Formats: sequence, C-alpha cells, structure tokens
Amino acid sequence: MEHFREKGRLIILSAPSGGGKTTMIEKWLQLRPEVKRSISYTTRSPRPSEQNGIEYHFIPRADFLRKRRQGFFLEWARVFDYFYGTSKTFCFQAIEKGLDVILAIDVQGMRKIMRRFSRRLPIVTIFVMPPSERVLKERLLKRKTDSKSEIEKRLRFAKDEMKARHEYNCVIINRNLKEAVRRLDRFLYVK
Ligand code: 5GP
Repeated sequence: MEHFREKGRLIILSAPSGGGKTTMIEKWLQLRPEVKRSISYTTRSPRPSEQNGIEYHFIPRADFLRKRRQGFFLEWARVFDYFYGTSKTFCFQAIEKGLDVILAIDVQGMRKIMRRFSRRLPIVTIFVMPPSERVLKERLLKRKTDSKSEIEKRLRFAKDEMKARHEYNCVIINRNLKEAVRRLDRFLYVK
C-alpha cells in the first residue's frame, strides 16, 4: 500500500458544529477508503437524518457513564449538555494494523488526547474553519433540526472553539468543499 506505515496515525479533525466537517470527512474517505473513521458514542438523540452506528453510536446516559468508568474511552467530553466519547479499542486496533484513524472531535477532546498520548502515538491535528460567521449561522439554521436556543448555544460555542485553531497542526478554511478536501488530503499524504 502506498502510504503504509508500521503504525497508523491518529488524525484529529475539529470544526465548530455546522463547520461542514461531516461532509468533508465523507468526501475525503471516498478518496482514502483505507482510512478508518472512529464513530463516537453519544448521549445526544439522533437527528432525523442520522442512523445509529453510522454517524454515532447513540447510547443512554447510564451506559455512557458505565463505559466511562470501565475505561472504554480514549477521551470523552461533555458538549452542549451531552456526553461524547471515542472508543479506545477501535483506535488502538487500527493504529496497530498500520491504518490511519480519523476522529471528528471537539477542542477539549483534542487537548485531552494530546496531553495523554502525544508521546506514545503519532497524532496529526486539523482544524476546519467556516469561511465566515454568517456562513456558519446559515449552515446551523439550514439544519432546522436544532431549536433556536440550541443554535444560539452552538454559535457561541463555535466562536470560542475557533480561538483554539492555532493549537492545531493545520487550519483549513472550508469555503469550497472540493478544495477543502484536496487540502486535507495534501496535508496528510503529500510530503
Ligand atoms: P454534534 O452534536 O453537532 O454532532 O457534535 C457536537 C460536537 O461534539 C462537535 O464539535 C463534535 O466534533 C464533538 N464530538 C463528537 N464526537 C466526539 C467525541 O467522541 N469526543 C469529543 N471530545 N467530541 C466529540
């Protein structure tokens, strides 16, 4: 395989909610089908377009807390009153096989992983920015599934998260999907 390494990398991609990261990752994975996508566990309810086991593993809060106690998560965070966490076994198994794993997690999750694993694992971090605040708001409104107060909350949180972009190895502005995917691929695979 062209990009085979002895160990895979943990690719952490953060973007504010509504930043367009899900579509971007989906498009990129079509180019790189060998990359594994970590499917997070969450206590949030699925949006109408979402399916259990595809976008997330949707689990009850009690199950999440039990898994957290058992050390199931590589990292976990509380975002907008819900819990989100990444499976440790899933990531470690892929990395050991030499496969890259992509994680779409928030800034808190990135910081936790960097603190605990940056010396042990190869990690690359990417922050995806919406082109403007206006576009971000439009994207959140277009989703229509979140309530007005939920959208306002996400917008405030997004502004805060964007301040952390300088902590990442690469910042990509998602003005145009095709171009953003190309930049992501070039950053990860072209030396
Ligand atoms: P949403 O509810 O819009 O899908 O996601 C809300 C936020 O939670 C996003 O910033 C997303 O990246 C983050 N998130 C999703 N899964 C995880 C996870 O496993 N860990 C952490 N720390 N954040 C996550």
